[in-house]
Amino acid sequence: MAKAKDTDELVFLPLGGSNEIGMNFNLYGYGPPHARKWIVVDLGITFGDQTTPGVEVILPDPQFIVEHADDILGIVLTHAHEDHIGAVAWLWPKLRAPLYATPFTAFILREKLRDAGIEGEAEITEIPLGGTLTLGPFDLELITLTHSIPEPNGLAIRTPLGAVLHTGDWKIDPDPLLGGVTDEDAIKRLGDEGVLAMVCDSTNVFVDGVAGSEADVRVALTGLIGGLKGKVAVSCFASNVARMDSVIRAAETAGRRVCLVGRSMHRMSSAAKAVGLMEDIKPFVSENEAGHFPPEQILYLCTGSQGEPRAALARIADGTHPHVKLGAGDSCVFSSRVIPGNEVPIRNLQNRLADRGVRLYTERDHPGIHVSGHPCRDELAQMYRWARPEIAVPTHGERRHLQEHAAFARDLQVPQQVTPRNGDMVRLAPGRAEIIDEVPAGRLFVDAGVLTPENGEALRERRHAAHNGVLSVAVALDGKSRIVSGPQVRALGLPTDEDYPLDDVLDDLAEEAEAALKKLSGDQRDDDEAIETAMSRAVKKASQRIWGRRPVVETTVLRI
Ligand SMILES: [Zn+2]
Ligand SMILES: [Zn+2]
Repeated sequence: MAKAKDTDELVFLPLGGSNEIGMNFNLYGYGPPHARKWIVVDLGITFGDQTTPGVEVILPDPQFIVEHADDILGIVLTHAHEDHIGAVAWLWPKLRAPLYATPFTAFILREKLRDAGIEGEAEITEIPLGGTLTLGPFDLELITLTHSIPEPNGLAIRTPLGAVLHTGDWKIDPDPLLGGVTDEDAIKRLGDEGVLAMVCDSTNVFVDGVAGSEADVRVALTGLIGGLKGKVAVSCFASNVARMDSVIRAAETAGRRVCLVGRSMHRMSSAAKAVGLMEDIKPFVSENEAGHFPPEQILYLCTGSQGEPRAALARIADGTHPHVKLGAGDSCVFSSRVIPGNEVPIRNLQNRLADRGVRLYTERDHPGIHVSGHPCRDELAQMYRWARPEIAVPTHGERRHLQEHAAFARDLQVPQQVTPRNGDMVRLAPGRAEIIDEVPAGRLFVDAGVLTPENGEALRERRHAAHNGVLSVAVALDGKSRIVSGPQVRALGLPTDEDYPLDDVLDDLAEEAEAALKKLSGDQRDDDEAIETAMSRAVKKASQRIWGRRPVVETTVLRI
C-alpha cells in the first residue's frame, strides 16, 4: 500500500443513517482536503409515515457528493435491505459510479435497476463473499457477518492512514441456518493489524444480552405451527430468507403445503434460489390451487407484517384478497417485530383479523417466534473485543442510540468516540478524531414518482388541505373586467352545520369575494393576480371567522 502524504486525511461522512434508523448513506474520503477521493458505502431509503401523506419513499439528499461525483471511486453495498440499497435506483443516475455487491445483493439490486430502466447503464460488479477490492487508496475486504438477510457483509477498509471496520448490519448468530457464521477470524486478524475506527450498528444498544439465533426460531415455529388447526398464515419479512425457509420446513413437518402470498415473497424466493438457497424444498402451491386444499394442509406465507395497506395480509384481513380467506378457526402468526412507527397500522391489522375470528400469535405472547437481526449489548462488547478499535463511531441509530453506544464504547475502554450527525465530516486521521466540516445533508421525498425537496410546497399544501379543507373560488369577467358570472365558491372537506348549512356559508363567502373584487380599482381589476389575491384573502378571513380555520383557497379568474 502507498504511503500517506503529509496533506492526506481520512474522513468519514454520513449523509444518511446517523441520527435515524434508515436511509444509510456513508462516505469515506481520502486525500488532501481539496482533492479527496470517495467511496460510498450503502445507499438506502427510509419510509414515509402519517406525517408525510402520499410520500412512501424518502431518500438521503446526495447534493454534497453529486458535486464530487467524478471523485467517487465506487459504491459498495453491504447487504440487500431497503435501508441499504433502496435508493440506488433513484440516485445512481446522479452519481454514475461503479456498483459493487455480493451475488444475492446484486441479484436484488439488478431487479430494482431493471424496474427503473437503468439496468444497462449501471453496472454491478459481483464480489464473492470474503472477497477483496481495491478502489484507489482504499483496499477493501468483505467480512462475512450474520444478520437477517442472506450475505450480510462488514467491510475492512484499509488505507495508508489506517484501517476502518465498517460493520454494516450484524449480530452474532451461532447458527444462522443459511450462509456462513460470523467470520470471527477475519475480524480478529484485522484487530491484530490495528483498527483505527469501527463504524458500527447501534440499533439494539439498549437491549441486554444477545439477539438470539434463527435456529431457535425454527424450533419455536415448528412447535407452534405443528399444533395449529385450520388454515395458517405466517407473516415475516420476505428478505429474511432463513426465516422463510424455517416457516416452509415447519409447514412440511406439519403436513402443510406452502403458498406464497405477496410480490416480495416471490421476489425473494427467486433471489434465494438464484444463489443456491432453498433449493430442496417442495414447489410452492399457487394462490388458486391453495383454495382447494383442506384447511389443515395449507400454510400461507404472507407479506404485510408491518400493516402495510396494500400488502397481502392487509387484504386478507379486509376480506378483499381474491384467493385467500381466513376466518374462525384459522391462525395468523407474526414472525416479526413491530418496527417503531408502525404500531398503529399493525394494531389495526391485528384487530381486523381478530374480528374475523382469526387467532393471533405474536412475539409478545409467544417469545421465540422472532429474533432481531441487530447486535445487543453482549454482542457489541464481543465485537469491540475482537476489533479493538481506537475510535468508536456509532451509526445506524437515532440520537439516543448513538449516544448510548458511545458511552458503552467508553466503558469498554475504547479511547475515542465520535457521534456524527448526517452531514458531519469526521476526520479519522491524522490526529484525534474530530468533526472538521458540516456539509449539506437532508432528505428527498419521492412524491408520485417525482423527487422533491423535503417538505416541499406540494406536501405542505396537501397536509394543509388534509387538516383544513379546500375552498375554490371562481369568477368570470368580461373584456371590461365586469363580472359576468360568480364569484362561485365550492368546498371540499369542510363540515356542514344544521344551524348554518354549508350552502349558506358558501353563498356568504361568495359575497365576501365579490365585495373584495368590487373594492379594487379599474387597473387592479385588469390584473388577474390582484383579483385572485383579493378574493383569496377575503375568503380566508371569513373562513377564520366561521370555522376558526383557514382552508386552502384556490381561485380562478376567467376572461370571457
Ligand atoms: Zn439497516
Ligand atoms: Zn439490514
